[in-house]
Formats: sequence, C-alpha cells, structure tokens
Amino acid sequence: MGAAFSFAHNAAIVLTELDSMADQNIEPSIERTIFTCPHCQETGRQAWFNLYADQIRNEQGLPLRLGESDLQRLRDNPTFSEDKRKQVVGYWERVVSGKVFVDRWAPCYSELFVANVSLSICHACEDPVIWLRDQIIHPV
Ligand SMILES: [Zn+2]
Repeated sequence: MGAAFSFAHNAAIVLTELDSMADQNIEPSIERTIFTCPHCQETGRQAWFNLYADQIRNEQGLPLRLGESDLQRLRDNPTFSEDKRKQVVGYWERVVSGKVFVDRWAPCYSELFVANVSLSICHACEDPVIWLRDQIIHPV
C-alpha cells in the first residue's frame, strides 16, 4: 500500500528550510507546517488534514474490531497469494496492535465535517498526530 496522502509543497524550498531547521527542536503547533514530530522526533514537514465522519452501517452498527483468532484466520487463508497475505495480514496486525495510522480504505463521501479535530502527518515517519482544537490528544 502506498502513502494515502501527499505533501503539497515546493521540494527545493522545503529542503532549504529543513536544512536550517533539521537540528532544531520546534514545538508542535496547529499554526505550523514544520515542527518536531512527537512520534519520531524528526523536525520536518507535516501535512494537515480535516476529518469527516462516515457513519458505520454494518449489521452490528459498531466499529469493526479483530482479535488474534481473526488474524490467524487471515494468515491461514488459502485463497491469498503470498504478496496478498503479507499486505492484508500486515495491515490488520497494525490495526490489532492499536496503532493509529492512515491508509487507504473504501472510498466514501461525507458532508459531515468533524469540527475542532485535525490530523497532522509527519513526512518522515507518516504517523498521524490527532489534535483536539490546538492540543495533541495522540500520541500522549
Ligand atoms: Zn515522525
């Protein structure tokens, strides 16, 4: 799976900015596009995202959750090629581990905007930071 997002910027300008900032500790802020990542501690470019809500419409009406036995069934699925198994199992292992990440899922359309919650995603490690207004709520 490729990156589920892109960084819109002029690469040459960013490289010059980052050369002078790479060894600085820049406090994360909702008013910056470059700061020190709370996940990997790299100082670099962050991409910002708005959040939209997509109502869960499965039979239970609950978020999808997998356990270890579900993971094992995926590992043992005889219909998967080796590449497919690696991709699917790798994805769900990250989910089961509790890791917060952004990746491709089904396309959706929603006009339900989530106010006062934003994501910033680090260019270096691609791990998301969840912001409630101007405060980080993940990672804590
Ligand atoms: Zn990072």
